[in-house]
Amino acid sequence: MNEILQNNRKWVDDKKAADPEYFHNLAKGQKPRYLFIGCSDSRVPASAITGTGPGEMFVHRNIANLVVHSDMNLLAVLQYAVEVLEVKDIMVVGHYGCGGVAAAASNKQYGLIDNWLTHIKDVVRLHETEFLRITDKEQQLRRLVEMNVIEQVRNLAKTNIIQNALQRPNPPRLHGLVYDIHDGLLKDLNVETDTINEFMHIYGVEAVEHAEEAAEAAQDGKVAEPAAESKPASKAKKTEEEPALHKVS
Ligand SMILES: [Zn+2]
Repeated sequence: MNEILQNNRKWVDDKKAADPEYFHNLAKGQKPRYLFIGCSDSRVPASAITGTGPGEMFVHRNIANLVVHSDMNLLAVLQYAVEVLEVKDIMVVGHYGCGGVAAAASNKQYGLIDNWLTHIKDVVRLHETEFLRITDKEQQLRRLVEMNVIEQVRNLAKTNIIQNALQRPNPPRLHGLVYDIHDGLLKDLNVETDTINEFMHIYGVEAVEHAEEAAEAAQDGKVAEPAAESKPASKAKKTEEEPALHKVS
């Protein structure tokens, strides 16, 4: 640990030399503009590749930058970043050469992590036709990295945290980026998160209302009909209420 501690002392000295009040000001609180959701890979340091310093970016990292709806860690970070810190931009950042993505594309066993990587196998299943059409193995993995980022941005849009935020003024924008370890460049995938709109009758937070309607109808003894009616109704309602999602991206 000596090297780490020495590096830290030098960093503190450099910061104070440039601005004696640097740490005093940082200690007052944080108001970061960005939320970064990236891979744990040691070659993808959030601050270094984005040129941001302390106080500018809230960060969550896990293997293969996944947005999993039962991940309390991710959800807590997302809710706090959106509702308390009020970040302006949320970026899912994948990277070419991701070991997690490569492992998911293989059929090897790695232990417990296989369960986590299943979420990426789900991405393959969703886009299997395109995935199999790419014959070059490296290109296939690069495309899977991109598909995974796009799917994780959509996963963000599915959360009630983001959907509620989109109903408020100045909602956060969602972005999907890929970092290339070979040249250090970040690429914006220009993810169109409004493509999720066609699934809003399933993922929309107002789906809860329809669930309540269906439950009430069931109590009144009209089980089958209201359930069948509620779907088209929800779709029609969507077209009126969804423009907020178009603001994203
Ligand atoms: Zn990775």
